[in-house]
Amino acid sequence: MYLDLNSKWNYWLPTFLLSFLLFSVFLLGFSIEASAQQINRVDFKQIAAVVSIDTTEKRVDAHYTVSFKVLKNTDSIYLDAKGMTLKPDGNSDLILSSADDKIWMTGHFQEGKTYTTSFEYAVFPTQSLYFMPWGISGVSTEIWTQGQGKFTSHWLPSIDDVNDKIEFDLSFVAPKNKNVIANGKLMNITSENTRNIWHFDMKEPMSSYLVAFAMGDFTKKELFSSSGIPIELYYKPDDSLKVEPTYRYSKQIFDFLETEIGVPYPWQNYKQVPLRDFLYAGMENTTATFFSEAFVVDSIGFNDRNYVNVNAHELAHQWFGDMVTAKSDKDHWLQEGFATYYALLAEKEIFGDEYFYWQLYQTAEQLKALSDEGKGESLLNPKASSLTFYQKGAWALHILRETIGDSAFKLAIKNYLEKHRFTNVSTEDFLIEVRAVSDTAISPFEINWLQQSAFRSEEAYQSLKKSPFIMAYFEVAALRAVPLIDKKAQLRSALTLPNDFIGQEVVYQLASEPVSKAIPLYKKAFKSENPYIRQAVALSMREIPMELQTEYRSLLNDPSYVTLEFALHQIWAQFPGNRHQYLDQTKGIEGFQNKNIRQLWLALAWITKDYNNSKKEEYLLELKNYTSPRYSFEIREKAFEYVNELQFWDVETLKNLVEACVHPAWRFAKSSKELLGEVLRNKQYHEQVKVLGKNVTKKAADYLNSIIKE
Ligand SMILES: [Zn+2]
Repeated sequence: MYLDLNSKWNYWLPTFLLSFLLFSVFLLGFSIEASAQQINRVDFKQIAAVVSIDTTEKRVDAHYTVSFKVLKNTDSIYLDAKGMTLKPDGNSDLILSSADDKIWMTGHFQEGKTYTTSFEYAVFPTQSLYFMPWGISGVSTEIWTQGQGKFTSHWLPSIDDVNDKIEFDLSFVAPKNKNVIANGKLMNITSENTRNIWHFDMKEPMSSYLVAFAMGDFTKKELFSSSGIPIELYYKPDDSLKVEPTYRYSKQIFDFLETEIGVPYPWQNYKQVPLRDFLYAGMENTTATFFSEAFVVDSIGFNDRNYVNVNAHELAHQWFGDMVTAKSDKDHWLQEGFATYYALLAEKEIFGDEYFYWQLYQTAEQLKALSDEGKGESLLNPKASSLTFYQKGAWALHILRETIGDSAFKLAIKNYLEKHRFTNVSTEDFLIEVRAVSDTAISPFEINWLQQSAFRSEEAYQSLKKSPFIMAYFEVAALRAVPLIDKKAQLRSALTLPNDFIGQEVVYQLASEPVSKAIPLYKKAFKSENPYIRQAVALSMREIPMELQTEYRSLLNDPSYVTLEFALHQIWAQFPGNRHQYLDQTKGIEGFQNKNIRQLWLALAWITKDYNNSKKEEYLLELKNYTSPRYSFEIREKAFEYVNELQFWDVETLKNLVEACVHPAWRFAKSSKELLGEVLRNKQYHEQVKVLGKNVTKKAADYLNSIIKE
């Protein structure tokens, strides 16, 4: 899984400029229910189900068949099944009942025998299966599931413990105009009255949290890996022009990982699906990665926020996580550390060594900061943060590879994967394979990188120094405290034949100087024609001097929506006389999926005196409309910011904000709750919100009641 969308932005700001960008470390806390007892008594083999979704009632009905082998005589066996109602079915010769979020099967189960039983059930899932958006006329509904961190047992009886791997062969009943994507190979689509039934087949077993399906208006581009695996790249029909930049390098990443890992891709096919309002950046469901629609970009957006890293991360999980699955939270780094490391290797293949070392340097800085605060965590701490599991895990593998050498490392990985194919693994299982292929003692590695909570920053820096680029960067970074007059020549030379990251460092050093003293260096930065260096100017220059107005304005044409958003805002604010020209120049640009440029433009166009006066109301209406549930939460989040900044709250936007507070995407709900809290401090809005009462959904009304006193 990839949790954090913000960290996947390609632009870099040094910590002293980061205050407005939240970097959060999310706790994972995937607890595993203690069902070890049942694991010793029964081994679930296969689950087959025909799943039908009632989109109006938001109900799941299914016909369900399960096979299991009994390992020890017992009289009761359960499936995890949250809030499910069993329907009477004459076929089952076992006694079935549902209680305690489980479906119980009772009978005289004998050791060594395999049993199969069928039943029907209905459930209104409260989580894990989502309808996005919820019941809005004229907006097409997308249905998808998220099993990790939630439980598949909210919609499909399964096993909440990762240690029982099951072959899932699922079928889905869908309206004729909808597509279905699920685990495994699509065998056929049969027709039944107004609906189609999509039949999928898995050949190998997997843990229940990796079960998934999505239903919506998708179309796909198909290609094959060099080894012949079918790869399906899904998109919405409206996004056909964004397919190339969104999925750029997909085949290259696939071929690279297969070769680098040294074990063939373990499943029948691979699919990738961008989803509306998805909870995370990406999720590695077996054979079917789901990812946030925010990564669907055009070729300008690609420069700022591309899917390459998440693409490679989720694909690497198909081996590390899906084929071999960590036995417990203590071994979670075997999934996230490995996926992060292999994604970085794929990026090195595509973007080169400097990018690779830059990413390692950035994460070393973050890990060092955490560690210096005394908050360092052992990789084997089951409650470690994502920064530890993901980035420290990747660092540990990088150091291990340097310790034992490339060929031993690759052999250990291959042996580890082959030995534990389709089973569960512990850190020790991995270390056994490492010890077997190398004469180098790895106990220092185990102590320093796996067990120790502090981050080994000195060892990390020694490793980083192997890169001549990092050495050159350190030389420039070392000038931060040097007065400008004494470092001008060095900064100037760093901007000649500039490197992306070193050039940005130069510009950020200028930000702390009086602009008038740095004009020649800024001119050189503009002339570099390097979009990353020019972007650093857009992000850090607080006051645009007259002498640089022309150069600054040229930023509005740069191939970056991040640059454009910052530059348009700044130049509009500082040169009121030219506002009409700036607006004319940037009219009609949408920006990212969240419409960052369009929304900024609308806000500025509305405020700008005498700018298209006859259209002002239209601009305002369009902006307010973006707060509506018709739009994805990324669009709404931005719209709420502008409505708040301009204090345009009215009954409709307040209602949209209240609904946003109970949105299933918890980070959006959280930011909406904070904003609502702020808005309610205004007496007038408080009165308006109070009377919304019956015009919002029950969930939203309950939330309102809980926060509004009197
Ligand atoms: Zn992951």
